[in-house]
Amino acid sequence: MVEQSEIAGPRGPVIPLPDPDDATPPGGQLLTLGRRIRHFRTERGLTLDQLGAAVGRTASQLSLVENGHREPRLTLLQAIAAALDVRVADLLSSQPPTRRAALEIALERAQRSGLYTGLGLPTVKSSRTLPLEALEALVGLHAELARRADAAIATPEEARRVTTALRAWMRERDNYLPEIEDAAEEALTWGGYTSGALTHRSVALMAEHLGFTLIHVDDLPHSTRTVTDLANGRIYLPPSSIPGGHGLRSLALQAIAHRVLGHEQPRSYADFLRQRVEINYFAAACLLPRSAAVAFLTEAKRARDLAVEDVRDAFGVTHETAGWRMTNLLTAHLGLRLHFMRVGDDGAVYKAYENDGMPLPTDAAGAVEGQLVCRQWPARMAFTQRDKTTEYHQYTDTPAGTYWSSTQTGWTGTGGFSITVGVPFAQAKWFRGRETTTRTRSRCPDPACCRLPDSRLTDRWSEHSWPSAAVHAQILAPLPTGVFPGVDEAEVYAFLERHAP
Ligand SMILES: [Zn+2]
Repeated sequence: MVEQSEIAGPRGPVIPLPDPDDATPPGGQLLTLGRRIRHFRTERGLTLDQLGAAVGRTASQLSLVENGHREPRLTLLQAIAAALDVRVADLLSSQPPTRRAALEIALERAQRSGLYTGLGLPTVKSSRTLPLEALEALVGLHAELARRADAAIATPEEARRVTTALRAWMRERDNYLPEIEDAAEEALTWGGYTSGALTHRSVALMAEHLGFTLIHVDDLPHSTRTVTDLANGRIYLPPSSIPGGHGLRSLALQAIAHRVLGHEQPRSYADFLRQRVEINYFAAACLLPRSAAVAFLTEAKRARDLAVEDVRDAFGVTHETAGWRMTNLLTAHLGLRLHFMRVGDDGAVYKAYENDGMPLPTDAAGAVEGQLVCRQWPARMAFTQRDKTTEYHQYTDTPAGTYWSSTQTGWTGTGGFSITVGVPFAQAKWFRGRETTTRTRSRCPDPACCRLPDSRLTDRWSEHSWPSAAVHAQILAPLPTGVFPGVDEAEVYAFLERHAP
């Protein structure tokens, strides 16, 4: 059985999640103290009875101390130290006195851990009669057990499960975390922020207030985005010449966020992920500050002219950040329910959120990442538009009702993506683009909607084609229906038909 820990959200612990066993049960220090007393006692050639007589305690009382089951008072420690002719500090050192003592302490700790007690197996007493090889073997096995338990938490399945739990937790809060909003607004005062886009200069001042200097380097470790030197008060960032929107301000703000939000080293994958959500939230709340953004959105709604592109341009952020930030604020402050998705040009969801009932595709575990969205949805229809320079607007009839959406496409080095923000039909009246006459009908998740290839094309191509799946498609979204896992056969057959001589 795995011990339960929790995602401690900004409003306190809410989501119960399995945690790899906490490897520091209480009693470790007492055990070291006890083993050091035993070490000096046997070195002096004293029995428990003899030492007991010298300090006015029974042998069994001393045995409890030596085995870490009882904490000695300072007066007793002083008496023991005097009887053994050592200093009290020698007894209190955190170093195990010998290699054998270190192994005994490690075994004792491991056997007290939840990871081991949960197995319901007997404990082995690390008495002096236990051969050293047996002790070595047991400690080695415990270490490997702990390592495997840690590794298990980082499997893709577990990562997806934790991601899904965290998204559900955020949805219950309408994607709005007021404590982090407050923290961001306070931090912005350090940078002298007043309105509009947040400047690099302001971000540097915010860091300075916390005792940090921002330093741009071109040799950051490949596995890191930023590195913070706590000892010398420095935050190392990529070179300032790197192109692209608010990336650098965002990275610096995320590094600052760890300090502002009082993060400690993550104890589990769930903990790590929650911190990532919080620092991203904090950075967005600084780039689009609540008071300024809500005022902007309120005015746009009053004018019935809400548009993601305007929010993007007013605050100097990417379309994605502007759209995502609208999910933070529109429900809590303007009473609008909405959905957001970032979808790749292969149709797979990269990131998605809804609190308006938009029927997002999910796998059996409730995860949306890697799932294919309906071909009739604007997130995919937008790729078929000739003019991709402005937002694409569309009404979509789904089994859950009709939605209006605004979609913008973009490109990264690895391919195209689309950012969609949408609302239920009745709320479209507040948005620019509501007058569009484009309307599609989606019957997904009914496979007959768009998942199954046209039967005529299946007849022609199923026996005469051999598609090879893209690597990420196999990992993210094995399509259960197809002959070729990870391959969208409807798309493949349509492609073959288009190109056939
Ligand atoms: Zn469909």
